[in-house]
Amino acid sequence: MRRLFRAISRALPARMVVKGIGSKTIFPFYHLVSNNPPSHVKHLYHVLSANEFERDLDFLLKYFTPIDSKTLIDNLSGNTKIQKPTFFLSFDDGFREVKDIITPILLRKGIPATFFVNPAYIGNHDLMYRCKISLIVDRLKAANITGTIYNEIAKLLGVNCNSTTIIKALFQVKHNQSKLLNEIAELIDVDIRGHLSANQPYLALDDLLVLAKSGFAIGGHGYNHPYFNEISFEEQVSEVMRCMGWVTSNFPDQPKLFAFPFTDYGITDNLLNQLLLTPDGSCDITFGTCGIQPVRFPKHLQRIPMELNGISGKRLLSSEIMYYLAKKKSGYYRVKYDKNL
Ligand SMILES: [Zn+2]
Repeated sequence: MRRLFRAISRALPARMVVKGIGSKTIFPFYHLVSNNPPSHVKHLYHVLSANEFERDLDFLLKYFTPIDSKTLIDNLSGNTKIQKPTFFLSFDDGFREVKDIITPILLRKGIPATFFVNPAYIGNHDLMYRCKISLIVDRLKAANITGTIYNEIAKLLGVNCNSTTIIKALFQVKHNQSKLLNEIAELIDVDIRGHLSANQPYLALDDLLVLAKSGFAIGGHGYNHPYFNEISFEEQVSEVMRCMGWVTSNFPDQPKLFAFPFTDYGITDNLLNQLLLTPDGSCDITFGTCGIQPVRFPKHLQRIPMELNGISGKRLLSSEIMYYLAKKKSGYYRVKYDKNL
């Protein structure tokens, strides 16, 4: 259905489409921006070049006013009433490109942003499992791997020895199967520790402190980025608490923001109640990744993934707005985005 709206959005002027959103806030988000996508993400999602990213931002700035996390909280609590369309920008996973490429552009354009990070990876102590998969796939596609090694990988994954099947199976590996990924990496000489120390994929805590000093907000994204739908309720609570404990102890003067890793699919009202509504609640606002949606829970908001291959931010946002407006009369439903986020 989204595809249909992407096709229609080509024919309609953006100004007309954006008008339909009224004074609503939209929540676009990205991971990183690079002219040379690093191997630990390039098989996971489309990485925008600096030019593509600036084009997206210019489109946003033309029709929407950027707001920061404090303004968002004031607006949600009714302290202020924003009378125009606004956008709240965020970035996930705490990659080094935030410091090298993204924030210089944001500072030049005067756009506030929030960075959602995983404490387990800040400082490059480990690599998130999806990034390990991307590294392994990159090596499988580039190197001359022998039939014997392919056989061993297939055996470990429990699938037929066929390169397409193996790659498909790799993308199905779950968060708690890190040991399996490490074994496969070793078989094809992918040195994860070496990659971490040579490339420093993630920001360090000192980098985040500098960003916070420049006015950016730091939020939580899970302690080590599990897929919440695959862990128990108790583990979900502990992931958020542990992560937000780290965030609030390092950035005590900031709003407490948490973006569920991958998606909020499977997150219950019970969990949102516990995080947002208890007197000592660990979060001021939580976020999912379902595009533009009606508000299901007053302080649980939905963001728009902006890294879809071959689709400009202008078309993506226009179609997302049209899709939202079309659903308004017919009843809403949620769409699960893929697991690469
Ligand atoms: Zn993420």
